[in-house]
Amino acid sequence: MKQSKLFTKVQKNIPKDEVSINAQLLIQAGFIDKEMAGVYSLLPLGLRVVNRIENIIREEVNAIGGQEIFMPALQPKENWEKTGRWNSMDDLYKVEDSSGKKMALGPTHEEVVVPLVQKFVNSYKDFPFAAYQFQNKFRMELRAKSGILRGREFMMKDLYSFHLDEKDLDEYYEKSKDTYFKIFERCGLKDQTYMTFASGGSFSKYSHEFQTVTPAGEDTIHICQKCRLAINKEIKSETEKCPECGGTDFKEEKAIEVGNIFKLMNKYSKPFGLAVQNEKGENQEIVMGCYGIGLGRLMGTIVEVYHDEKGMIWPEAVAPFKVHLISLGQNEKAQEIYDALSKDGIEVLFDDRDISAGAKFAESDIIGIPNRVVVSEKSLAAGGVEIKKRSEKESEVIKIQDLIDRLK
Ligand SMILES: [Zn+2]
Repeated sequence: MKQSKLFTKVQKNIPKDEVSINAQLLIQAGFIDKEMAGVYSLLPLGLRVVNRIENIIREEVNAIGGQEIFMPALQPKENWEKTGRWNSMDDLYKVEDSSGKKMALGPTHEEVVVPLVQKFVNSYKDFPFAAYQFQNKFRMELRAKSGILRGREFMMKDLYSFHLDEKDLDEYYEKSKDTYFKIFERCGLKDQTYMTFASGGSFSKYSHEFQTVTPAGEDTIHICQKCRLAINKEIKSETEKCPECGGTDFKEEKAIEVGNIFKLMNKYSKPFGLAVQNEKGENQEIVMGCYGIGLGRLMGTIVEVYHDEKGMIWPEAVAPFKVHLISLGQNEKAQEIYDALSKDGIEVLFDDRDISAGAKFAESDIIGIPNRVVVSEKSLAAGGVEIKKRSEKESEVIKIQDLIDRLK
């Protein structure tokens, strides 16, 4: 993509009304735009990042049998009354049409997915299975403040699994843990992300959060120094010992919750009467698990972990482009390189604009594309193009014909 055609621009100054680094940088660089507190538009660069994150999640969830669906954000009040959450959930957005019909803007989708599944299953042979979606969720957040980390409207991957018994749910739940680690590893957050014991509510002893350590974190976790699992604040106040290994040596850290997994058991299948006949002909209630990841939140977390004083530093797997090609008065030669890289499937943002070299470099650092390639009179005289990683200080000149191999 040519930068001269990109309708968004890098702004000179960081937005004054944002306190979090992730929102400041993402807005300044034109990845997102704030519509109002807790509500953001995704702009071309930001959407490319979210799409990459989404594809990583999709590949990993498909690999454990997830079937992708898309459920509505607008949901009937009756379903929410059935589960008791119409009145018990304080942050539920309720809307009413002109005929007086009341609906919820979904903060989660148990109230839709359970009756949906019920329409299609009638035998124990239909189980187990899992369905998931990427959908915008709504939460009445009165003090939205952490940029895209805590929104009123936010994009989630929510996966729901359905099982005949607890043993089968347990097996899938364990599998989902590995899947979550793979997802966060591919997003560049392996070393910073800890599986964290959290309260399981009334139905199981624990649920698990995936917490990424960063000073910007709103949560506090206690990392077991023996087994690398963590416990959240709530669990820490109930126990002195690591539930996994019994260790007692913990390190306290600030962290952002990037995902969570939960055994729902029959909490939602019961109110809707989701049950089938088992092999013995008896009525058997279905048990469920749910598994969430916030996509915008994950993007914001990556920015919190990967930035320096000059701007963002995207891990390659989630970067909006692989290469930032910068022409300094050499648009003809740069165009040839752009065409060659594009032909080879390498995604390039091509800065073909007629502005100063200093401005181009400063903007490139803010945007944070992992590889910068500069074509200038100087680089051509030295035998090719100048290549530099955003995460490194030193650049080097390489031959144009070696560029594709280097970037692959
Ligand atoms: Zn431990």
